[in-house]
Amino acid sequence: MTVPVKVSDLLSRWERERPDTEALRFGGSSWTWRQLAERVRRAAAGLRANGIGPGDRIAVLDLNHPSCLELTLACAQIGAANAIVNFRLAPPEIVYVINDATARILFVGPEFAGAAEQIRDKLPSVERVLRLGGDADEYEALLGTHEPDTAVHPARPDDCFVQLYTSGTTGFPKGAMLTHRGVLAHSAAVATDFVLSDDDVVQIAMPLFHVGGTSYALVALYGGTRMVMLRMPDPVAVLDMLERERITHTFLVPALLAAITQIPGVEQRDFSALRALSYGASPMPLPVMRACLALFPGRLHQVYGMTEAAGVVSSLGPQDHENSAVAHRLVSAGTPIHGVEIEIRDPATGEPVPAGTPGEIWVRTEQLMSGYWGKPEATADTITPDGWLRSGDGGYLDADGYIYVTDRIKDMIISGGENIYPAEIERVLAEHPGIADVAVIGVPDDRWGEVPMAVVVAAPGASIDENELLAHGRKHLASFKCPKAVEVVDELPRNPTGKVLKKELRKPYWAGRERQVV
Ligand code: ATP
Repeated sequence: MTVPVKVSDLLSRWERERPDTEALRFGGSSWTWRQLAERVRRAAAGLRANGIGPGDRIAVLDLNHPSCLELTLACAQIGAANAIVNFRLAPPEIVYVINDATARILFVGPEFAGAAEQIRDKLPSVERVLRLGGDADEYEALLGTHEPDTAVHPARPDDCFVQLYTSGTTGFPKGAMLTHRGVLAHSAAVATDFVLSDDDVVQIAMPLFHVGGTSYALVALYGGTRMVMLRMPDPVAVLDMLERERITHTFLVPALLAAITQIPGVEQRDFSALRALSYGASPMPLPVMRACLALFPGRLHQVYGMTEAAGVVSSLGPQDHENSAVAHRLVSAGTPIHGVEIEIRDPATGEPVPAGTPGEIWVRTEQLMSGYWGKPEATADTITPDGWLRSGDGGYLDADGYIYVTDRIKDMIISGGENIYPAEIERVLAEHPGIADVAVIGVPDDRWGEVPMAVVVAAPGASIDENELLAHGRKHLASFKCPKAVEVVDELPRNPTGKVLKKELRKPYWAGRERQVV
């Protein structure tokens, strides 16, 4: 195989080598590699006819649909890029992302047509809004009216291939420009790790606006492997698809897995085809991990990664999930994947720290984005001149080179000069049978600066005895780490990938006060 330098090289290859093999399945429809390549060429022609060219951005606001992947590939073919919008955002946030991208065409799915109309006059860069799907599918009309565009833009490996927005857990979402080189390096490393074969079937369950959706589709494209896409990551739909389509590889987030493990009769379902279930994007609570180990033995891969690195940077394979001699590794994010360097640095000085010492996780790899779109200062704050990405995550490496992600640096609690990692406290509290969900935040304290507080959701049928929960914490944690108070809520605020929005939880406690972060 010639080494691909642009993502379109992959599509051309599979079109040439396996034109009539099924590439993609969605709902009741399917596309062969030839059909997919042909649709991408038509979409490229349609975009070009609408004035889209090198350096331009379009945006897609839709639930998962193959058209979003086609548009991503078509844009890259003509030197433009698709900025995929998080469909779970509130209208003002959607406006922010589309304006940040300066998108010239906005494609909207049927569920978002009304919302798009309402925000239309707040989107100065958008010249046209085109409907995807539904009765008057303007995207299909666009494909039908243009002859396939065979003139491939001479993209360079460091050109932007797709613009994915960070989750916005710590601030406004930022548009990470993922390059051809970056996504190919990521896809090659992951596809090689999984040893993808022609018989495999990859499930695209996570939304395409998230790196866990689009990068997973690109891994399948890299391997020439059939993918089956789900419109919405609904737990029952994910489970049914795993069984019905004999899925061999999937990526799911812990919040989704927690719901799947609770589905009645789940242990009777047939997962015999499944070879690899990857999970990540947020910490995995140990009770959910145990339920997954029972349901999917020998197939769990934890992945740690970020949008800025085009996906995964480290992984913990099945052997480490099930080897009782190294049971402590269950809470580790494994070792770097092929082509990735990881170091722990002092967040204040940027100097490397010895094994076992907590610091900030720094990552260097070809996978890295070229920068944040339109934000040179944020880019310079995030990528050092010698190519290291400051992840913003706290963590440490053990003597065997395993990475432990403790917390986001910004969520770390500094209490009386001691650093406290909320994740450690959350793990202890999550073991309490009365708790269904928990997040620990720092709240202001006159004496210590800030102190940990637990925000908890009761398990179904359980009521929470605050004193008993605090006593449970004291049994397992040093006293300065024990939460000083408990707030019971019905649900934790989470973003679409299941990350708890600690910023929101902290807000009422810090109104009018400044929080110290490293
Ligand atoms: P923003 O940068 O806008 O705040 P974000 O960092 O949440 O958004 P993403 O790129 O979606 O945006 O998320 C990457 C982050 O997710 C990582 O930096 C890390 O904090 C968390 N994460 C990813 N994988 C894991 C994992 N396996 N365990 C724990 N945390 C994880």
